[in-house]
Amino acid sequence: MMGQRLLAVFAHPDDEAFGTGGTLAYYAAAGTEVTLVCATRGEVGEIADPSYASPETLGWIREQELQCAAETMGVDRLILLGYRDSGMAGTAENEDCRAFINAPEGEVVVRLVALMRQIRPHVVLTFEPKGGYGHPDHIAVHRHTVRAFQLASDPAMYPELGPAWQADRLFYTAIPHSFFIQMREGMVSLGMDTTEFDRRMAEMPGWPDDKVNVTLGVSDTVEAKWDALHCHRTQFGPGNLFRQLPEATVKELMSREHFALAWPQPEPGQRLSGLFEGLTDGH
Ligand SMILES: [Zn+2]
Repeated sequence: MMGQRLLAVFAHPDDEAFGTGGTLAYYAAAGTEVTLVCATRGEVGEIADPSYASPETLGWIREQELQCAAETMGVDRLILLGYRDSGMAGTAENEDCRAFINAPEGEVVVRLVALMRQIRPHVVLTFEPKGGYGHPDHIAVHRHTVRAFQLASDPAMYPELGPAWQADRLFYTAIPHSFFIQMREGMVSLGMDTTEFDRRMAEMPGWPDDKVNVTLGVSDTVEAKWDALHCHRTQFGPGNLFRQLPEATVKELMSREHFALAWPQPEPGQRLSGLFEGLTDGH
């Protein structure tokens, strides 16, 4: 629908593709103006093949990968905040003064408030409070985005950043428990060892299915999502679980994306057919 604006705020190149690639492509194709903000260049992510990047070049390479993915999904505007990837919890990278998790809260929030007032999105997307699987940058980007969403609408806060803007909805990307169950079934059917998967699932069982408010069918744009994932080739090597399952199974799993409504507070069990449903003439 023309005139709709969607803002997605994530931490690393590839965060946008796994959970929301189909959705971003779907809305972009429908004429929605899609802005993607990425806090870091993912400097301490994986390197699937040493010929793709070195630890020194990884941030630069992943910026190119993100640009490739954004173009593939039809994203209108890509904004990098330029913080450093903080690494997994408990690693030495956590201590780097340039790491996103060490950025002053006020600084990040002000930048996001400024962007929200400039872009004036109707819908904002970010991670849920645990960041999907607990990555410190995912948790930080969640926290800062939620705070900025609140403050952007308050005319008493940061008047120098422009007129207050109240977005209509804030959603969290939510990978539901049932998704992991389906993945596990796929692994079992191939005779794969699920020990590590089960251990992780015990720690991080996924978002409760009854707290999913939107399940968007994205089979029309799943190819764009698949191609966007392949743009992130340093992260999406042959060892990736999604590369080990049969392509048809993975595309089937990836053909639905799930969101939890964070603001306004949903009614228990509330279901919406799309992120913009009921907003002006949205869907
Ligand atoms: Zn990430």
